[in-house]
Amino acid sequence: MAAETDASPARAADRALVRRVARLFGPYRGRVAFVVVAILISSGIGVVNPLLIKVVFDNALFCGAGCPDLGLLGRLVALMVTLPVVAGAVGVYQTYQANLIGQRVMLDLRNRLYEHLQGLSLRFFTGTRTGEIQSRLANDVGGVQTVVTETASTILSNIVILLSTVVAMVLISWQLTVLSLFMTPVFLWFAKRVGEARRRISEETQSSLAEMSAITQETLSVSGVLLAKVFNRQRDEIDRYRAENDRLARLQIRREMVGRVFFALVGTFFSITPALIYLAAGWVDARGGVAITSGTVVAFTTLQTRLFFPVGQLLQVSVEVRSSLALFGRVFEYLDLPAEITEPEHPVMLDPERLRGHVALRDVFFSYGEAGNDGEQAWALQGVDLRVEPGQLGALVGPSGAGKTTISYLVPRLYDATRGSIELDGIDVRRLPLATLAGTIGMVTQESYLFHASVRDNLRYARPDATDDELEAAARTAAIHDRIMALSDGYDTTVGERGYRLSGGEKQRLAIARVILKDPRVLILDEATSALDTTSERLVQQALQPLMVERTTLAIAHRLSTILAADVIFVLDQGRVVERGTHDELLATGGLYAQLYDQQFSGGLVEARCEDGFVMASGRILHHEREADEAAREPAVG
Ligand code: ADP
Repeated sequence: MAAETDASPARAADRALVRRVARLFGPYRGRVAFVVVAILISSGIGVVNPLLIKVVFDNALFCGAGCPDLGLLGRLVALMVTLPVVAGAVGVYQTYQANLIGQRVMLDLRNRLYEHLQGLSLRFFTGTRTGEIQSRLANDVGGVQTVVTETASTILSNIVILLSTVVAMVLISWQLTVLSLFMTPVFLWFAKRVGEARRRISEETQSSLAEMSAITQETLSVSGVLLAKVFNRQRDEIDRYRAENDRLARLQIRREMVGRVFFALVGTFFSITPALIYLAAGWVDARGGVAITSGTVVAFTTLQTRLFFPVGQLLQVSVEVRSSLALFGRVFEYLDLPAEITEPEHPVMLDPERLRGHVALRDVFFSYGEAGNDGEQAWALQGVDLRVEPGQLGALVGPSGAGKTTISYLVPRLYDATRGSIELDGIDVRRLPLATLAGTIGMVTQESYLFHASVRDNLRYARPDATDDELEAAARTAAIHDRIMALSDGYDTTVGERGYRLSGGEKQRLAIARVILKDPRVLILDEATSALDTTSERLVQQALQPLMVERTTLAIAHRLSTILAADVIFVLDQGRVVERGTHDELLATGGLYAQLYDQQFSGGLVEARCEDGFVMASGRILHHEREADEAAREPAVG
């Protein structure tokens, strides 16, 4: 429960949220107005029939002499038949319009969110679980739709029903109204209790469901099952699952029962109140000296029953409104995230064709925004200066965590430098239009990502207008054409997440073909460290060589061949360039590069397997030299 003092800021925040939600409906103002009017009509009409009942009873049926008045009765009955039909028709059309608005608002919101997410920097995605993003886009936005179509209409129509009913009751007999409203608090109290119980149960159910899916996700994945098997923890996992499953089943039963109790409650009130009204009517008549006609009693009891459902629904809806507001809050939270990498205010327009491809980092400092051990900002890069001439190959070498990947992210502006600048042909990349930058720089990452689509579509991702001949030429250059032709449907074979599984080397070659097709001026290459067999290794190298021709390449090099081919090698350690030069020069210096070379590189790969056990500090390989040697000889596992 929120403390008293917290309530008002929280309420102000809620109000701001409600206003923001209301603004989403701005474009549909006309329709919303129509729905409101329709609700007023359809809910308001409902109260006319009970009023007519009184007239039927007192003026047409039982009015003493001259009754029954068949003419009047006929007209009244005709009205009583017509009104519900009209109300029903208006109600149906109103629901259609409400749904239409709801769907449109949701569609807008989803589109906006997706577009916004696409514009967010890599920092957001590395810091957020994928499932979380998906769930906000799918479930939260979807959940919001019910408020829009159902909740809002429910609230309005129930309020109209309540008010019109009370007014009608007063019109018929204010004395009876006063008496019967005494009973409402009792009902309210019950309904509120039931509502609270429901909310508690549904919260618990939500958390139980989340827990269940977390358990299944963790334990039924390949790695999870593997872990459970090798540590012999399967029994424990089963027990954990069972316990949670039990809890869920109990909660479901409780939820059903609470719902049932609520209906029983409404039913009971339905049955009891007419009886109580008869009593009250007799009492008012006898003691109060007010004559109560039979029409009054019948009309009144009919009106009275109209009160309970709206009250019950309004109570329940208040719970829904809370949870929907929370959903809106979650969606807005994402929408409010600033897109860190934005278009320059005063972009330098230049013809990408004329770019020479000179890449330079000038005194670049970069931090992922995390604090180091000493509480100071942890720098991933500190004062990095490097230059790669047009058409040259620059190799980044260094122990794991030295900052190589970070540099590869800064050049295409996946992140922006904290201090210093990255320049393309002497122009700060932050001053180039994002599209120019993206068109100029191509990237081959360690993990080659393929969409669940045909080989052709995956290749075309780089250049949608590429012809089949161009695709094939690129694939040939990347030494993957023959392999593609050997697939069941050639270029039309579906690959990717759930498609045909290509090997690591094949995926890399496909990714290389994709970049060849794009033909960027500048290439950022992160060579895969995963062990490939000799044939794949040779094929990947064969694919890489033509890729680097005639473009500036900045390569995170793990292969001897790449390093030997490099025009300049930058040796990084702890975010600084500690050595630079050609292979021979660096070897002659006998520094970190020479050490790295001795340790692994002479075996073909530089840093490939120094992930955990044999990480270095201050540029020195501290330990596990023997293991490192072994690891260099054997394919890494796990
Ligand atoms: P390398 O590619 O040379 O192995 P990285 O550029 O990946 O090194 O990392 C440089 C430093 O930045 C490391 O200390 C690493 O832990 C840190 N780092 C890398 N990525 C992130 C991230 N997304 N968030 C926080 N720190 C990161």
